[in-house]
Amino acid sequence: MKTNEIRSKFLNFYENKGHDILKSAPLIPEKDPTLLLIGAGMAPFKDYFTGNKTRNNPKVATAQKCIRTGDIENVGVTARHHTFFEMLGNFSFGDYFKEKAITWSWEFLTGWLKLDKTNLYISVYYEDEEAYNIWKDKIGISPSKIIKLGKKDNFWEIGVGPCGPSSEIYYDQGEELGCKSADCKPGCECDRYLEIWNLVFTQFNKDEEGNYTPLATKNIDTGMGLERIAAVMQGVKTNYEIDAIMPIINKTESLSKQRYGQDAKVDVSLKVIADHIRAVSFMIADGVMPSNEGRGYVLRRLIRKAVRHGILLGIKGNFLADLMEVVEDIMGYHYVELTEKKDYIKKVISIEEERFAQTLEQGLDLLNGEIKKQKGSTFDGETAFKLYDTYGFPLDMTKEILKEHNLTVDESQFYKSLEEQRNRARKARQDEGSFGVENLSFLKEVPPTQFTGYASLDITSKLD
Ligand code: ATP
Ligand code: MG
Ligand code: MG
Ligand code: MG
Repeated sequence: MKTNEIRSKFLNFYENKGHDILKSAPLIPEKDPTLLLIGAGMAPFKDYFTGNKTRNNPKVATAQKCIRTGDIENVGVTARHHTFFEMLGNFSFGDYFKEKAITWSWEFLTGWLKLDKTNLYISVYYEDEEAYNIWKDKIGISPSKIIKLGKKDNFWEIGVGPCGPSSEIYYDQGEELGCKSADCKPGCECDRYLEIWNLVFTQFNKDEEGNYTPLATKNIDTGMGLERIAAVMQGVKTNYEIDAIMPIINKTESLSKQRYGQDAKVDVSLKVIADHIRAVSFMIADGVMPSNEGRGYVLRRLIRKAVRHGILLGIKGNFLADLMEVVEDIMGYHYVELTEKKDYIKKVISIEEERFAQTLEQGLDLLNGEIKKQKGSTFDGETAFKLYDTYGFPLDMTKEILKEHNLTVDESQFYKSLEEQRNRARKARQDEGSFGVENLSFLKEVPPTQFTGYASLDITSKLD
């Protein structure tokens, strides 16, 4: 079953159950300065969960575009993580609760998608007897396949506010994908038990003192990764081989004359590029521009990492705009913004690619030279900063290259250099006086000054 068909089926299913089907919200959160990028289907609906806003029909379903920068290091490493993915979700704002959410998810997976029940496993929060009993008695799951997990896996909360236990549905992909550890079970970090769907039961409010009190209106928030369920439906062992992603890999194979599936390192590069070009295309379509701060810097990192992996594959010249066309070809069917803004997106990508190409090789020469001279396993943070500042190397790209040589970077030194440079810039501005001109020279001479640090870039990872 094609990815497009699974998405439509999901939305049709919940429409039949009385949900309003809404379009994906843009990746840039509307009126939510606490969030860098949308990382979950529920994120655009926060106000409905808290009760600040209400709608006539309290039942909604979406396929939501998501970006999780917190998963960037998993890309190409695990079979299941992307920076950009689609989350299928059904939501109840004070309407139905656990029983319907569970029953419908099961009906969709086993009735509509006809998944083999023997491969499905369930996890519940260990104190959530209600969810456990629904799975056991109403759905008829054998207790041996219902795993009770703790807060880390099965309780959803961000700081204070609405929160609650969750229940996850896993698909057993077979022993060969497992970590072979004796206690490998759903919730294990390996790829054997693939977490396909997370059902969150927001039933408490957490206050500043850490007390949990029951909410007057309880909510349902579910999220199923479209690429993961597509991998299961298409019988492939990694998300990257589904019909919505493999054509990007195929195009990169032909541009690089490399083959997928023959060399682990080549595969990582092919996957990173396929992942990042999707994220990049959607971010630009939604109005993000490469820059040195916030979401613009996330975009810049993604483009630059993709360029570097292109070089590793031996690709000569710009290639990302060509790949964007493949993304548009696959996804423009549902996300018309890709088609409507295709030329614009390609242009933004090409300009950034070109700009980085000018400094990349010199930066790589510097880095490789330093690596050769390196004694010990800690790489100096000042050089990492120079690579960032002069050659445009995102820190995580430098870290990635160093990791290939079993080196780690002294990050505190990196941030110290960054801070020093900020102070110099601040001082330079003061010396110049506070006329309009100060902003101009500030922007021209010290672009990274506006970089707000990795802390802000990782806000989205709180949703992981
Ligand atoms: P995992 O444990 O595999 O990292 P998660 O528990 O962080 O997943 P949730 O926050 O529960 O994921 O998100 C809901 C669903 O979205 C997941 O069950 C999964 O199907 C999908 N999902 C989450 N993160 C990613 C990702 N980085 N790439 C693709 N799909 C994802
Ligand atoms: Mg999980
Ligand atoms: Mg989860
Ligand atoms: Mg995660």
